Amino acid sequence: MQTSPASEALARLRRVQPPLAIIADEEGLRPFETDAYIVHRETPMLVAVPETEDQARAVVQVCRELGVPIVSRGAGTGISGGAIPRHDGVLLVLTKMRRVLEVDPLARTATVEPGVRNLYVSECAEPHGLFYAPDPSSQSICSIGGNVAENAGGVHCLKYGLTTHNLLAVRAIDADGDVLEIGSQALDAPGFDLLALITGSEGNLGVITQVVVRLVPLPERIETMLAAYPTVRQAAEAVGEIIGAGIVPAGLEMMDRVVIDACERSMDMDFPKDAGALLLAEVDGGAEEALDAMERVRAILERCGASEVRVASDAVERAKLWKSRKGAFAALAQILPDYYTIDGSIPRRCLPEVLDHVFALAKEYGLTVGNVFHAGDGNIHPCIFYDANKPGDLERSEEMGARILERCIEVGGTITGEHGVGIEKLRQMCVQFRAPEIAAFHDVKHAFDPTDILNPGKAVPTLKRCAEWGGMHVHGELPHPEIPRF
Ligand SMILES: Cc1cc2nc3c(=O)[nH]c(=O)nc-3n(C[C@H](O)[C@H](O)[C@H](O)COP(=O)(O)OP(=O)(O)OC[C@H]3O[C@@H](n4cnc5c(N)ncnc54)[C@H](O)[C@@H]3O)c2cc1C
Repeated sequence: MQTSPASEALARLRRVQPPLAIIADEEGLRPFETDAYIVHRETPMLVAVPETEDQARAVVQVCRELGVPIVSRGAGTGISGGAIPRHDGVLLVLTKMRRVLEVDPLARTATVEPGVRNLYVSECAEPHGLFYAPDPSSQSICSIGGNVAENAGGVHCLKYGLTTHNLLAVRAIDADGDVLEIGSQALDAPGFDLLALITGSEGNLGVITQVVVRLVPLPERIETMLAAYPTVRQAAEAVGEIIGAGIVPAGLEMMDRVVIDACERSMDMDFPKDAGALLLAEVDGGAEEALDAMERVRAILERCGASEVRVASDAVERAKLWKSRKGAFAALAQILPDYYTIDGSIPRRCLPEVLDHVFALAKEYGLTVGNVFHAGDGNIHPCIFYDANKPGDLERSEEMGARILERCIEVGGTITGEHGVGIEKLRQMCVQFRAPEIAAFHDVKHAFDPTDILNPGKAVPTLKRCAEWGGMHVHGELPHPEIPRF
C-alpha cells in the first residue's frame, strides 16, 4: 500500500524518543495557518513541538530523509509571513524550548532557548541590574529565536542596536541535522562571521536552538519626553535636528493623528488635543548625563515648533507613555477590520519627503494610513487600512505598500528595517538587489541547506521569479543554473 508523505512523516516522527508533541488533526492545525501577516493562510501538513534540541534535531533529520520542507516558528508574531506554513511541510514550533539556561552577571550575558519571550530575558536580568536592550513592541510575546531569525529591532535600538548588535553566540541545526555552534562568548570569533549571517536569515539557514545574548546595565536615570507638533513634517524635521546635534537618544518615536486618535480611544492617554504628530523622546545614562541630554533635547523640540513638551515626572508616567507606543498596533485594529504594516528604512534626512509621499499615495488610493514608527532610526511603518470584505481593497493597499517600499529604495533606503522579507516583500527584493546579489544569497543558503528544505520560498526570490516579475533584467543565460527555479 502506498503511503502519503504526511503519513510517512507522522509515522517517523512518532518514533522519536523521548516522544515528541505532534499535531496532525485538522482542528489542531488551524491555529497555525498564519502568523501576523494575516493576508495569507496555509494549513501545515503537521506541527511538531519539540522540548529539547535533540527532538528538534530528530525532526530535521526525518524531514531531510523524506525531502519534506520545514518552517520554523516562534511565537508567530512576524509581520512579513516568514512563519506561514506549507501544506506539504512540517511546522516546527519552538515555543516549548523556553528555558533560561544561565544569566551571568559578571559576563553580562544570558543563555536562553529559542522559545523564551523577549521581555522575560530582561525580567530575569533585572535583579542583577541588567537588561536585554532590543525591545520590539511585541516583546511580551515574541520569542528570542524569532528575534534572531528576523534581526528584530525595537524602540530602544537607536542607542543600543538591533538584535545583531546584542548577540554573542547561537546554536543552530542545519539542514543535514548537524548542530552548528556559531559565535563565541568572546568579543571576536575566528573564521567567517556566521553569526551575522544567521541573524536575519528567516529560518532559511538553520533552526536556532540556543542563543547567548549580551546584557547591558540598567541606566541610572531615564528621562522621557512627549512633544506635540502641528504637522508630521515639523515633527520629522525635529528628529533631524536632534540627531544632527550629536545626541543619541535611547528612543525617538513618532505617531501621527490617526494613531494618536486610536491610542486615545483604546488607552485614554490624555494626549495634546490638536497635535498632528507626537514625538516620544527618551534619553538615559548617568544621572547628570541624562539630565543634560534631556535639557538639550527639550530645547531642540521647542525650537522646532512643538506646541507642547511634557516630561514624564516618574516611572509610572513614563510607562504610560511607552504603553501607548507599544500598544499602538493593537489600538489600530479598531479603525478598520484589517490593516497591514509596511516596514521600510530610509536615511533620516528623507523622513519629511517620504512621509509627504506616503500621504499623497494614501490620497491617490483613497485609503487611510496611520504612521507609528522608529523615527530616530529612519525606520518607517505606514499602516494601511483596508476591508478584506470589500473587493479590490486588499489589492489596492498592497499596491500602495509596494510603491512606498520602492520609494524607500529610490531615496537610498531598504525594503525592511526590522520585519524581514518573508513572503511579503519577495518582489521588492528583486528591485533592491541585482541578479548576482540574489544568486549570492542562494549560494549561501545552499551551503547550509543543499536540498532547500529550510523555509523554502521565503526571504529570497528565485532569479526566475525576478525576471518574470520584471523587477530585474536578466539578459541571456540565467546565472547559476544549478539554483532551483519554480
Ligand atoms: C504588534 C506587533 C508589534 C511588533 N513590533 C515589532 C518591533 O517593534 N520590532 C520588530 O523588529 N518587530 C516587531 N514585530 C514583528 C515580530 O514581533 C518580530 O519579527 C519578532 O522577531 C518575531 O518573533 P516570533 O517569535 O513571533 O517569530 P515568528 O513570527 O514565529 O517567526 C518569524 C521568522 O523567524 C523564523 N524563526 C522563528 N523561530 C526560529 C528559530 N528558532 N530558528 C530559526 N528560525 C526561526 C520563522 O521561520 C520566520 O521566518 C511586531 C509584531 C507585532 C504583531
